[in-house]
Order: sequence, then C-alpha cells, then structure tokens
Amino acid sequence: MIEVRNIHKTFGDNAVLRGIDLTIQKGQVVVILGPSGSGKTTFLRCLNALELPEQGTITFTHDPMLKIDFTSPSIQKDILALRRRSGMVFQQYNLFPHKTALENIIEGPVYVQGKNIAVAKQEAMVLLEKVGLVDKANLYPFQLSGGQQQRVGIARALAIQPELMLFDEPTSALDPELVQDVLNTMKELAHEGWTMVVVTHEIKFALDVADSVVVMDGGVIVEQGSPEDLFHHPQHERTKAFLQRLR
Ligand code: ADP
Repeated sequence: MIEVRNIHKTFGDNAVLRGIDLTIQKGQVVVILGPSGSGKTTFLRCLNALELPEQGTITFTHDPMLKIDFTSPSIQKDILALRRRSGMVFQQYNLFPHKTALENIIEGPVYVQGKNIAVAKQEAMVLLEKVGLVDKANLYPFQLSGGQQQRVGIARALAIQPELMLFDEPTSALDPELVQDVLNTMKELAHEGWTMVVVTHEIKFALDVADSVVVMDGGVIVEQGSPEDLFHHPQHERTKAFLQRLR
C-alpha cells in the first residue's frame, strides 16, 4: 500500500496543491480527473519528486518500508529511493533522441541500478515484446510513431520494476488513431496487477480500468469513488459540473 498524506505545493503565491491525501492499494488503478489547472500533473510529479512539495509524506508500507517526508533534511537521499520505487510515463514521452528504443529502456537498469548490460538487454527485449515493439528495438525515437514512442516510454518506466507506475496524460499528445494502442497497453498492465496512478481525460479508460477515480479541483480532492459511483452518482457539485462539461 502507498499512503500519500497532506501534500502541499506552491509556485510563487499560487497554492497549487492544498493538502492532498491518497491511499493507493497494491494492484489498484487510480485515475485522476479534473479541470485543467486543478493540480493533477503537479500532484503526479510530486509522487516522483519531480516537483518538491513544501510539506507532506509518501509511505510505501510494503517491506522494506519507505517513508518520504518532504520536510526532512535527508530528502535528497530519499528522492533516489523514491525514484527506484516509482516509474513515470510522460505526456511528451521524454525519450533520449540519440538512443535507440532498446538503449532508452536499459538506461535506468544499467546506469541507475548498476545491472549487467547483457541482462538488462534481455529484460528490455521482454518488455518490448510486452508493448508490441520487439521489431523496433534498434530504431531511434524519430523513426517511431508517437504511439510507438509512448509504448517505449512505458517499457522504460517498467524496466526498473517499480512498485508504482505514474502516467501523466500519456495519450494527450497522440494523434487520435494512435491513442487506443497505448490505452490497450495500459489496460494489460492493469490486468497484470501493476499499481498505477493515471492522470487522463480518457473517461472510457477510467470507466473500464480504474478501481478508484479521484476528482481534483482547485488543488484539493473534491471526490473519490468507484468509476460507477462517481460517473453515475456524483455527490459533489464540482464533480457534477466537471462531468457535465465532458458530456
Ligand atoms: P492540471 O494538470 O490539473 O492541468 P497543473 O498541475 O499542470 O494542473 O497546474 C496547476 C497550476 O500550477 C496551474 O495554475 C499552473 O500554471 C501551475 N504550475 C504548474 N507547474 C508550474 C511551474 N513549474 N511553475 C509555476 N507554476 C506552475
């Protein structure tokens, strides 16, 4: 289980996250929805310490327990530990342009985790198989479609075998015809039991795959529930207004 408590993040005088609490059960898919500017991406980036909150904790309760307290003096060391346990998939893929698909995937295992290159390559090929790109191993990002690049991005995040996979609007930069392949890959990961937090506007994905849906607005979680409850019986006015705009 991963427990996130009281995350606060301010940019200048803009209080973007105002006390976020979230508990993520092992194997759960949590989808975060909410209007643009509500703090979804910032929250996800805090979960991987790409943004540093002024306050808050993240606890991985599974052995070995890891508690990150963002106010702690040892936070720099803790950030490295956090990044070994959470993998991030970015909206713009963020692949190294001068490295092949395979080289992108082995980067973390070899250079961060110190894994043997031959072993890392074998494991990367298994991951490429999983995302349906085994024949593209030696191609560079510019030789791949956006959807293929994003699937390499997913394989790269999986390569460190994180406990938590974070997806930041993974399909929103893609041409519409490429979206489904990426969503299908994510659906497979969900069925395999990966623990995932996904920021997305793909409502159908949320309905089909999420165990829990969180609605953010104004830097707080206004409502959380099962997809059925949330979409069919929203309780909060701000959730109703948000869903109304989507229809
Ligand atoms: P969402 O993902 O819900 O659209 P974001 O987390 O991207 O929301 O942004 C929330 C707010 O934080 C916005 O007002 C945005 O302008 C601000 N913000 C995000 N990142 C930064 C940053 N690096 N510097 C300053 N302001 C930022």
